[in-house]
Amino acid sequence: MRKKITQNKKTVLTRLTSFLIAGSIIVAPICAVHATPTATQKNSSASTKTTQTIRKGSSTSAKTAQTTHKGSSASAKTTPAVKKGSSASAKTTQTTKKSSQASSKSSLTKITISAAGDCTLGSDIKSPASVNFYAKYREKKNPSYFLKKVKPIFKRDDMTLVNFEGTLTNRTTRAPKTFAFKGNASYLKILQKGSVESVSFANNHCRDYGVGSYRDTIKTFRKQKMPFASYGKTTIYKTKGKKIGMVAVNGLDGVSSSKNYIKSGLHKLKKQKADLIIVSMHCGIERTYTPNADQKTLAHYAIDHGANLVLGHHPHVLQGIEKYKSAYIVYSLANFCFGGNTNPPDKDTMIYQQTFVFQNDKLKKTNRIKIIPCSVSSSSGINNYQPTPATGKKATKIIQRVNRYSKSLGKVSFGKNGKIRSY
Ligand SMILES: [Zn+2]
Repeated sequence: MRKKITQNKKTVLTRLTSFLIAGSIIVAPICAVHATPTATQKNSSASTKTTQTIRKGSSTSAKTAQTTHKGSSASAKTTPAVKKGSSASAKTTQTTKKSSQASSKSSLTKITISAAGDCTLGSDIKSPASVNFYAKYREKKNPSYFLKKVKPIFKRDDMTLVNFEGTLTNRTTRAPKTFAFKGNASYLKILQKGSVESVSFANNHCRDYGVGSYRDTIKTFRKQKMPFASYGKTTIYKTKGKKIGMVAVNGLDGVSSSKNYIKSGLHKLKKQKADLIIVSMHCGIERTYTPNADQKTLAHYAIDHGANLVLGHHPHVLQGIEKYKSAYIVYSLANFCFGGNTNPPDKDTMIYQQTFVFQNDKLKKTNRIKIIPCSVSSSSGINNYQPTPATGKKATKIIQRVNRYSKSLGKVSFGKNGKIRSY
């Protein structure tokens, strides 16, 4: 029912894991190249740019959507490769979905956010041609295949946010790194068909085919009206009359530059009267189940400066959840629809869901949280790039893992049904 409308110096530290499957070596890349921001990104603070995505509607069926791309107010920053002739000027698009009344006169507004981890729509061109993401896309001939199993979950929320890890580009100048990801611009449909409403785009793979590939990807987000947050570019997504502001930083670039992006992003979003602010943070160490000092520092900093939720990624595996002050930190959402690895050894992942409740426009202190255990693949022996909710013992095992990882971070733990039971 919901469709969204809108709105190097490199440190190479790579690991290679090989898997022997059916007699063929499958190279399983994990993202491990840490790129520093390039000239286009520098000095975030003064120049945050915000895109606004508005999706009005209220009750479950009211769907009047409106999209406004606003050029940022005071600090007009020219964005690379913007829509024809509109660069600095505001562009407004309005789209109306089937409207209906939402006249429940309640002063309570509930906003449910679903968050999932790394979505790499594409592959490394060196990955095994018979089983990589490109092959699957060609085989299925249908972008809906990929998120089919989780769409029923994403469809029922008010906004789904994932980490977009890779590029959408036709460029052939692959960055000199062990793993570089790219996909065709049309792959963005995978997210749109899967009811994903927004992406974070600040990570160590968003320039895998050069700065141009970063711009190409953003151009595609804009063209396809996919709200995104990326370094100094913040975004606002509107639903049920509330503004959800988003900031995305890459902590691998350094804690202090990320703090600057967070601080300036939050400042900007508050000025724009965001009702809720989510900070996405790409940080930590791959394949570790415990957050490192940088993750903690950045997450706490974001909440100290007004973030209502911090979503982490980069370790590729699950980490724990912490309650800090009255907000939550999900340190690592793991992989999700991940074309970066043809067979990750740890396929456990989750969808984190939180419902924020507003009473008379004021955000109430609630703890309505649920984790939905999933696998990155609907096949256990290989990655078929189709994340799937886990059931039975497998689901229990994933919840227990999250509980175990959360233990050292505080009191957060989840019951068998995935609902939070202590915090
Ligand atoms: Zn990463």
